Amino acid sequence: MTDNKIYIIDVTNRDGVQTSRICLSKLEKTMINLYLNEMGIYQSELGFPVTHHETNYINANLELAGMGVLHPIILEGWIRAIPQDVEDAIKLTKIEHLNLSISTSEQMIKGKFKGKFSEEDIIRTMAEAADLAKRKGIRTIGVNAEDASRTDMNYLLKFASVAKEHGADRIRYCDTLGFDNPFTIYDRVKTLANEVKIPIELHCHNDLGMAVANSLAGAIAAIHAGVDAYINTTVNGVGERAGNADLVSVLLAIKHSSTFKDENLLDDRINLLKTWKIAKYVSYAFNIPIPINQPGVGANAFAHESGIHADGALKDRKNYELYDFEELGRGEPEIIETGRNITVGEYSGIKGFRNVYEKLQVEFHDEEEANKILELVRHANVHNQKPVVEDELKFIAQYPDIARKLFTMSP
Ligand SMILES: [Zn+2]
Repeated sequence: MTDNKIYIIDVTNRDGVQTSRICLSKLEKTMINLYLNEMGIYQSELGFPVTHHETNYINANLELAGMGVLHPIILEGWIRAIPQDVEDAIKLTKIEHLNLSISTSEQMIKGKFKGKFSEEDIIRTMAEAADLAKRKGIRTIGVNAEDASRTDMNYLLKFASVAKEHGADRIRYCDTLGFDNPFTIYDRVKTLANEVKIPIELHCHNDLGMAVANSLAGAIAAIHAGVDAYINTTVNGVGERAGNADLVSVLLAIKHSSTFKDENLLDDRINLLKTWKIAKYVSYAFNIPIPINQPGVGANAFAHESGIHADGALKDRKNYELYDFEELGRGEPEIIETGRNITVGEYSGIKGFRNVYEKLQVEFHDEEEANKILELVRHANVHNQKPVVEDELKFIAQYPDIARKLFTMSP
């Protein structure tokens, strides 16, 4: 038994959105932060503080944090580990938590930087960026070693030690290409954590189908070395190329897999009851269906048809199910309107709008307020380019000023 825990840092709003062909609106990103907070997720990497179209979104979400709405989740931004990015992030946003990222492998130093940075330059630039972040009052600093799995171990140890000396709270071990396997990542992370004695973030990609297994193996290595582990996840596993470690699969594996299930490793605040909701919402927002066989949230995750399995599951669910669907917030029938259905969109009028909000039991003080919210809902529809869902409608009615900020961009 150990006191060290595994915490989740979800990167859907950063790695998920930087993925080819898919994107999220700023309202959708905000809803994801709200759901992650309700699930008790430790931290959300909410975006890119130096990207101008993110400025209002990031500041609006930090305002929600200040109001206690996005609390206790920590909102952190991703930047490059260079002083200029630290400077810009602080100038543009009120961000208080940052992850600073730079490539550390020989492949990237030669193949990407092409002589622009030597190994020494990389360590020096990262240290300067970390120093500046500390000086400017950034509260937590994660330092990301991009392509850590293909980085020479001695160099990685040096990089991590310098990061720690310059105020890093964590090292992000990035298996950027999904190159590791559970055995190699265990050994490498154990060495790293033992030598540097700093909490480790595991950032694993799924190019070889091992992102979840590698995340768990790396996290266990960190815990065996006596430090906390932080696993980077995305909802439904969306992410660059073959994706990142899927949030739900990671949580289920920590809670229910052989031996881990008895070790009480998971951050106590995690509550899986919102799992179904966030998976469905993210699928809708990205417009990517959840595979039928997705762990926990796929349509077949609790379906049994063959005679022996159905009979077995009906006699005792434990015969063919490792975990209960109720734990994931599944089981409620979904109500789909099959008769007349008034929706609200970019050209809605006040009567239909009132009807929709009455069904949600949201009341307005007067006509003026109703018109103000209607105008915002129209903008939300244009902004999302798809029908606005119930939780979004409620959010807009409850936090109209925040919603306005999310919809505002000035290039
Ligand atoms: Zn990544």
